[in-house]
Amino acid sequence: MPSSEATRRQYLEAMGVTQWERRALASDAQVDTSPGIVAPDVIVPSAGASPDWTALEEAVRGCTKCALHSTRTQTVFGVGNRRAQWLFVGEAPGADEDAQGEPFVGRAGKLLNTMLAALGLKREQVYIANVLKCRPPNNRDPQASEVEQCEPYLIRQIELIQPKLIVALGRHAAHSLLKTDLALARLRGQPLRYQNIPLVVTYHPAYLLRTPSDKRKAWEDLRRARSLIAETATP
Ligand code: URA
Repeated sequence: MPSSEATRRQYLEAMGVTQWERRALASDAQVDTSPGIVAPDVIVPSAGASPDWTALEEAVRGCTKCALHSTRTQTVFGVGNRRAQWLFVGEAPGADEDAQGEPFVGRAGKLLNTMLAALGLKREQVYIANVLKCRPPNNRDPQASEVEQCEPYLIRQIELIQPKLIVALGRHAAHSLLKTDLALARLRGQPLRYQNIPLVVTYHPAYLLRTPSDKRKAWEDLRRARSLIAETATP
């Protein structure tokens, strides 16, 4: 087995996948073309007058719109390729991210890197962001008012990146992007869109660390995402 294939299998094993299946071709993909849940065109207050990356980063760095600014070490803007096809959206920075200023750098981040590697992707190829740019104290759930204040930043990031596909990691990202409160189990595997961008909901890596038996289902979600992106890829 070539070593790159061996490495990929190691990543897949870490994702709970031990039986090898032929990789789905784009033509195999069972893509449901029904509209499914589509995020409504919600009018969200803009993060400024359509700021570019520099202005957006500055706005986030200096943000005091909610109380989280007083407990953060620093803001966590987002990281990766600003012209990425894949956008991964998490919930909010944790302690490691607050300390380092980069999303998904702790234990959950290591698992996310493994999930990316199983897809044949490097962290630098994709874009990774959170709904909240500041850490909620003691890693509590984001509050609705915090999401409301912060999400224009994510919305502008999406406008600037124009990804081919969004992966919502966990229910908070899914709820914020889709403006729904349906349970994650109802959202997984559904044909979803944020604006016109296909969106796949999967488990948050932190949940998968606590519940490794669901890694296989997460891998199914990611394979589905890969098929969707292959469908939209320009030849
Ligand atoms: N969990 C998240 O949702 N985001 C991070 O950046 C880290 C952990």
